[in-house]
Amino acid sequence: MSNHLFDLIVAKIPDPEKIFLQTLEGDSILYRQMLSASARYAHALVKLGVEPGDRVAMQMEKSPAFLFIYLACVRAGAVFLPLNTAYTPHEVGYFLSDAQPKLIICDPERADSLSEAAKAADARVVVHGHGQYGELYDLAAASPPDFSNVARGPDDLAAILYTSGTTGRSKGAMLSHDNLASNALTLVDYWRFTPEDVLIHALPVYHTHGLFVATNNVLLSGGSLIFLPKFSGPQILEAMSDRPGKLRGTVLMGVPTFYTRLIDEPGLTREACARMRLFISGSAPLLAETHRAFSARTGQAILERYGMTETNMSTSNPYDGARIPGTVGFPLPGVALRVADPETGAALPQGEIGMIEVKGPNVFKGYWLMPEKTASEFRPDGFFITGDLGMIDDKGYVHIVGRGKDLIISGGLNIYPKEVETEIDSLPGVIESAVIGLPDADFGEAVTAVVVREKGAAIDEAAIHAALRDRLAKFKWPKTIHFVEELPRNAMGKVQKNLLRATYGG
Ligand code: AMP
Repeated sequence: MSNHLFDLIVAKIPDPEKIFLQTLEGDSILYRQMLSASARYAHALVKLGVEPGDRVAMQMEKSPAFLFIYLACVRAGAVFLPLNTAYTPHEVGYFLSDAQPKLIICDPERADSLSEAAKAADARVVVHGHGQYGELYDLAAASPPDFSNVARGPDDLAAILYTSGTTGRSKGAMLSHDNLASNALTLVDYWRFTPEDVLIHALPVYHTHGLFVATNNVLLSGGSLIFLPKFSGPQILEAMSDRPGKLRGTVLMGVPTFYTRLIDEPGLTREACARMRLFISGSAPLLAETHRAFSARTGQAILERYGMTETNMSTSNPYDGARIPGTVGFPLPGVALRVADPETGAALPQGEIGMIEVKGPNVFKGYWLMPEKTASEFRPDGFFITGDLGMIDDKGYVHIVGRGKDLIISGGLNIYPKEVETEIDSLPGVIESAVIGLPDADFGEAVTAVVVREKGAAIDEAAIHAALRDRLAKFKWPKTIHFVEELPRNAMGKVQKNLLRATYGG
C-alpha cells in the first residue's frame, strides 16, 4: 500500500547492495539490510499492539537500531516520538502523559526509572539493548524481513517532536509525512546530494537536525552515512581521510560547536578537507568569526542554514553563490518567508527588523492537543510566527538578529530560561532568578543564572547545582550562578535581561 515517506525512500535506493550506514570501524549496513531491519521492527511494533496513528515514544542512545525503529514507525503508520537522552524521568513523565504513546522504548538501564511515569500514562515500557538484545530486539529478530507498509498519505503524521515551552509547558510539534519528505527533497536538490555522497553523522538523533535534516537527506538521495556515536574532532578528521576499504566522508553537517572545536584540531588543514564537498552548519548562530577562521584554515566556506523543529529548514545560503558569514541565506524553493511587524503581522519593508514568518509544505501541522496555542502562532493567511527576529538585506539574504523568546542555545541544544528559573525559584531561600545565555567560545552560549536570595538564606551555588541535578537535564544546568540583591526591571516590571547580559557577559 502507498506510504508517502517510505515509498519515496525506497524509490531512491540506487542499489540494494549499496552501503546505507557504516561505523567508523568499518562495519556496514546495506540498503537491503536497512529494509529488512525496518520491516522486522515494524512487525515487532504491531505485535506489541501498535496501530496506525499510535504514538511510539523512544528514549534510547544513538545507534543504527534507532534509525530502523524510526523507519519502522513510518512503515507501521505510527507517530515516532524521540526523546532527548538527557531528559530525567521526571521530564519524560510529562511527555508521556501529554502524548499518551502506546509504548516507551528505552535502553534497559532506563527501564526501572521510567516505569512509574509509563504506568501513569498507560504506556508499556519496552527495552532495546545497545548490544542487540532486549524484548524489542528479540521480537524483531523473530519476525519476517518483509512488511506490508501501512497506507499513509502526505498529511498523515510521521512524528511528534517536543520543543521546550517558553511559558512552562512543552509543546509537541506534529510533523506530517509530507513535511519531512518535501523538505528533504528540496534540500537534496539545493545542496546537490547524490548517491555518491557520504554524510559524516555526529549529531544526536532525537532532534530534528540529526534525525530529519541529516538522515532524511541521505535516504532521499540514496547516499551513505558514516555514523559516529557523538562529536569527536579526531573521529571527524578520520572520517574525512582515505582509509582502505572504508567510506570517506564528503559532507559534514553540524552545529556551530562542531566547527569551533574542529578549528582547535591541529589536523584540520586544507589537505585534510580537500575531498570534502560541503560543510553545513545550523541549529544556532554560527559566528562570522568562526566562518572566517574555518575558511582560512581549510579553504572551504561553511554553508549556514536556518530552521526549527516546527518548520524543518526554511532558509539556506546558496550552494554556488556567496555564502555570507552571519547570514542564513535565502528562503528555500517553495518556502515563503517574510519579516513582519510582531504585533500586526503586516510585512515590513526590506531592511527592517521584525518577526520572521514562514509558510510552505515544510511547516508543521500544529501543536499536539493545543489547538488554541497553534492558532495563536499562525497568522490568518497561514504564515507561522517563528519567534525569531530577523531582517532581509538588499541582496535578499536573511539575517537572524535575535530570538524573541530569549531562547538559549548551548552546544546546539535549546534551553528556555523560564524552565530553569522555575526550578531555581522553587528552592527554599530563593526569592527569584533570571537565566540568561552568555557568549561562550565552545558552546556558543553558556547558561548563566542570576539569583536573589532571601535575607540571611544560606543557599549557595553548590546547593543550587545539587538541587537541579535530578530535576533538569544536564545541558540545562547553569554553568555559572551569580547572587544579587535585586534584579533590574523596566517600568513595566519586566526583568531587563539585556542589562544582565551586559553586566555578566564581559
Ligand atoms: P530547534 O527547534 O531546536 O531546531 O531550534 C530552532 C531555533 O534555533 C530557531 O528558532 C532559531 O532561534 C535557532 N536557529 C536555528 N538555526 C539557526 C541559525 N542558523 N542561526 C541562528 N539561529 C538559528
